[in-house]
Formats: sequence, structure tokens, C-alpha cells
Amino acid sequence: QSPFLHIPGTPLDPIMALFEAYNHDSRPEKLNLVVGVYTDENGSIPILDSVRSAEQEWFAQGKPKNYRPIEGTPGFRRSVQDLLFGEDSEVITDQRAATLQSVGGTGGLKIGADLLKKVLPDAVVAVSDPSWENHRALFEAAGFKVVSYPYHDPQSHGVRFDSMCAFLRTLPAGSIVVLHACCHNPTGSDLSPDQWRMLVDLTGENDLFPFIDIAYQGFGRGLAEDALAVRLFAQAHRDFLIASSFSKSFSLYGERIGAATIVCGDPAVVSRVEGLAKRLVRTNYSNPPTHGAAIVETVLRTPSLRSLWESELGHMRTRIRRMREQLADALDRNDLGGSFQFIKAQNGMFSYSGLSAEHAKTLRDDFGIYVLDTGRICVAALNDGNLDRVVRAITHVVK
Ligand code: PLP
Repeated sequence: QSPFLHIPGTPLDPIMALFEAYNHDSRPEKLNLVVGVYTDENGSIPILDSVRSAEQEWFAQGKPKNYRPIEGTPGFRRSVQDLLFGEDSEVITDQRAATLQSVGGTGGLKIGADLLKKVLPDAVVAVSDPSWENHRALFEAAGFKVVSYPYHDPQSHGVRFDSMCAFLRTLPAGSIVVLHACCHNPTGSDLSPDQWRMLVDLTGENDLFPFIDIAYQGFGRGLAEDALAVRLFAQAHRDFLIASSFSKSFSLYGERIGAATIVCGDPAVVSRVEGLAKRLVRTNYSNPPTHGAAIVETVLRTPSLRSLWESELGHMRTRIRRMREQLADALDRNDLGGSFQFIKAQNGMFSYSGLSAEHAKTLRDDFGIYVLDTGRICVAALNDGNLDRVVRAITHVVK
């Protein structure tokens, strides 16, 4: 008898389930505000000019498709660290961090989770309430108990920072705290610089292990601004982990490119930590793929492409902000019994819009507009061509 017969049905996570429903929807006017993908003014996923040039350069070199080092090339790893810490960072000069290329940001989280399971096997992992759907699932799959710390405040549409801190103080020493560096997914609400400083102290005093997920660097306020949390923790000379994703910032979703960076308070342990991480990769997928990393490395290490990329990233960031402003102002003009100005204060691709599960269902059923039941909207999928329709539909379901 087949051992597979005993597998119970496994539900898709809500994002993937709605994405499938969207794909099967035959209405031509359907609109996907569910998935975390940036689309441009025309509703297309852009191929950045910087990426295209780097690809052409790479292909022209005609390099053989050898295996890559388990950890990725030195140029890629250095570029990731430059982006995270800033080029003059003392973490880099003191060689206090090990970076490994990963299969997307998710792969970076997975390398980190597996590594932490080896060194903190009994740790509790705390993720924000709410968080990216896959955080809980990924850490549970790595064998951890996962709890949620308070984060979103539906009243103020901001962060319940006091409750968050109070909860974190109750965690046992050695617990792991997963933090979104910027552009919190799904709420769009980020901590202020002062709150980050307090959190660095709090996690230090309570011996909590920070794991920073940075999937949207450059989508919030700017490349350096969005890395503030990473840089503050780095200055504290402590051990912590970072998972980087380049899916959104380079519009390279399907190339699956990201990194895991392990920062150590003591440079003497870096090579041992890196050795263990490489072992985990070796026994998982052996070596990382070439293409995405070659593009990211070429863009970041070629000054002209780097500045082109920064301006393209800036364009995506500004366009999202403009969509936030137009959405908030248009909804407020329709007098829906409460202000939507909070949407402007949020960062990144997503907005917790305040819409209910019932609203989301009507938007889907009656208008073909796909929004998560939590009310999360992907603002990065709005454009001048679809905004009016979205505003009219939201107005209809809310009024
Ligand atoms: N972390 C967060 C908070 C995300 O929102 C995402 C993607 O949506 C990821 C990690 C994973 O990124 P990637 O697609 O590069 O694996």
C-alpha cells in the first residue's frame, strides 16, 4: 500500500489559495491586489534596465556554468554586506559577519532557522501579530515552537509598541525574535528610529536573539534608511541574523535570489558559524544557482549600473507612495465614515486597509478585485489605470 495514502489534504496558505482563485477567474477586469509583486504604470512586472544591462553583460562574457561556491561568490557576498551595513561599516572591516547566497529571502530565513535549531534547539520563536504568513510555518517546520508578539493596532492603524515590548520581556532568555526591518508585511506599519533603539536595548537586556527579515530594502524610505534596524543591531556588537531578499528590489522574483547573513559579536567565531551554515546548505540543495546572483552582483559592483538601479528603485518607491496618497485622498473624499490618511504613513508594498473579511469577499465576488481577508492590499499593484475602479469598489462595499 502506498505510504502517500495516509497524507491528509494540506491546505494552501491563504495568499496562494487566493492567487489560484484569481488565476481561475475568467472575468477580464479582474485585479490581483493579493500577491506581493510590484507592477508598473501599465500593470506589468518591470524588467529593470539595470538588470537587463547586467544580464547582457553576463551573457556576453559567455562564462561556463560551473557550480558556484556553497556560500556564493566573494563579490556577491561583499555587495550584500555593503547594502546591509553601509560600505564603511565596522562589521565589514572587522569581518564580524558571514553571508551566504540563498534561494530568495525565504531561503535565507530557512538557512537561519536551521542554523539556530542547531545552536538554540529549545528556543521559542516570536513573530509579529500579524506577520508574513510563511514566518510561522517556516520556523515551525524547522522544529521551533512559534508564538506571536503584539504588533498591529487596529484602532490607531499603527504599532502597539508598548504591548510588544511588554510581551518580549516575558520571553525566556535565548528566545528568537523575528523582526521586519522595514515595510512590515502585511501591515505596512514600521517602528520609528527611537523604537528600534529601544528594541536593541530590550533584546540585549533580556538576552533575546534578533532575526531580521529585510525583504523590501529600498521600498520604504531609501536604501540606508530601510537598513537602520540592521545597522543599529550591528553597532551593538551582538550576535544576530539577517535574511535579505532581492526579489522585490531588483524585480527578480522567479530568479530566487537572497542571502543569509550571520553577524557575530566576536569575530573569532565567524568562520565556525559559516562552516556550519555551509554544511546545512550542502545537505539541502548543495550549491546556489548562478543567474540571479550574477545579475545582483554585476549591478551592485558596476558603478553606472548601481546608480541606474538606485534610480529605478527610487522610481518604484515614489510610485508606490503616490498611489498611497491618491488612494487615501480619494477614499476620504467619498466620506466613508473614517479617515484613510493612515495609509500614507505606512511603508512598502502593503497596506492593512482596515477592510473586513466580508468587504474582501464582496470585492472579490462582485468586482473581481482580489484582496486578502485580513484587508491587506498590495498598493504596489495600483496604478493610474485601475485606481478609480478600486476606489469606487471599496466605496461601494464600505458605504
Ligand atoms: N519575508 C517577507 C516579509 C516577505 O514579504 C517575503 C516575500 O513576500 C519574503 C520574506 C520572501 O521573499 P522571497 O520571495 O525572496 O523568498
